[in-house]
Amino acid sequence: MSLFLSYTDNPASFFTDIKNSFTDNSKTLPVLTNLDFQKELYTHGGIIRHLVKVKGSKRETKAFDFILPDKFSHIFKNIEKANDKPVSGAMFFKNGTTSVSALETYFSCPYKHFLRYGLKATEREVAEFAPIDIGRFLHLAVKMYVENNNFDADVKVLKDTIFKTLIKLPEYKKYLADPFTKLMLFKLKNELEKIFETIKNQFKCSIFKPLFIEAKFDSGYKIEAVELKISNVSVKLHGIIDRVDVMNVGGQNFVRVIDYKSGNAKFLNSDLQFGKKIQLFIYMHALIKSGYRPFGLYYFPVKFKFSKDETENEYKLTGQTVDNLELINCADENLKCENISKIFEVKLKDGKTVKSNKIVSEEELLKKCEYSVNLCERAAKEIIDGNIDISPQRGVCEYCEYVCVCKNYGFLGERQV
Ligand code: SF4
Repeated sequence: MSLFLSYTDNPASFFTDIKNSFTDNSKTLPVLTNLDFQKELYTHGGIIRHLVKVKGSKRETKAFDFILPDKFSHIFKNIEKANDKPVSGAMFFKNGTTSVSALETYFSCPYKHFLRYGLKATEREVAEFAPIDIGRFLHLAVKMYVENNNFDADVKVLKDTIFKTLIKLPEYKKYLADPFTKLMLFKLKNELEKIFETIKNQFKCSIFKPLFIEAKFDSGYKIEAVELKISNVSVKLHGIIDRVDVMNVGGQNFVRVIDYKSGNAKFLNSDLQFGKKIQLFIYMHALIKSGYRPFGLYYFPVKFKFSKDETENEYKLTGQTVDNLELINCADENLKCENISKIFEVKLKDGKTVKSNKIVSEEELLKKCEYSVNLCERAAKEIIDGNIDISPQRGVCEYCEYVCVCKNYGFLGERQV
């Protein structure tokens, strides 16, 4: 059995202490170079045995080129040839499926996708109440509020009940022991009231009703997976839709798709064009295939505002609405009197909708859904072809947890999209 210790540039003093504590027959232990280390790990016979063993499940060519000495890479190429299929498909599309978030990660940076979904590298968990935990807490609270499906009930009472239930869960109970995180939790309680009031208004001022909460679309579910066709390979795209509301107008079921966002909840057309935010369109595509007609697709900000610069409409649904006045009036019964919707980004002037990029025809929305599926097919093909380029979208590196792996501290190669 061997134990390998590694360090980046200069070893820390404890490393030298450990090294000096052991000898090999009274000889000092050697320090291996990177290549020696790889040879120690992968003997020629060993790697052939391993590669033959994984032949069925296969791995990603470039991933192995990356960690193996050059002389081994041809072995992988031969295995790939023998199977007549790129190995990366099996690495990323286990059981012939992928998720919308995986493909969005690919669009943000192929290398990030490789690290997260290929190598499954994750950050070490630290015990703190991080923004991601705040997002999860609010997300869960909102889910419970909508599941309760009683929008006549007093929001304050429900907020108290839901908050009490949540802080009894082990993942949140631990935060009560620390005065700072306890204070944070109680601040979130007040935020919940504002969020619940907004959701209550979304339902009370419209004929929409919740249809699905955390709805899975996948093979065998009520909403089927979206099939991506990539030459002779078929990949099924699955995901979870935070909320789908439905209203029946003229005997037809119109849906609005809502994704709760703890980050940036703004929607720009360019976000779709370059694959940055495709999920809402993919979700709508899946619902259309299941027989629903589109009304709108939105992000709903579910976050704690630290800033004092808060606008009145901070919890509006942001996204795109189908330009159909009859439906719009059913979705916001106050709009006729107020001319500006408090629920979504629609304005009226002289009894007509004001044109903006927030308003689209049903036909245009359908085309956008098709476009997002085409984008996903293109991305899946590139992934199968083994693309793991360091090619980040502008602004992605700044918040990327993998920067210490790719070492792209200068954010080089950013795509100006
Ligand atoms: S830091 Fe930038 S280049 Fe590196 S993996 Fe993340 S997004 Fe890609």
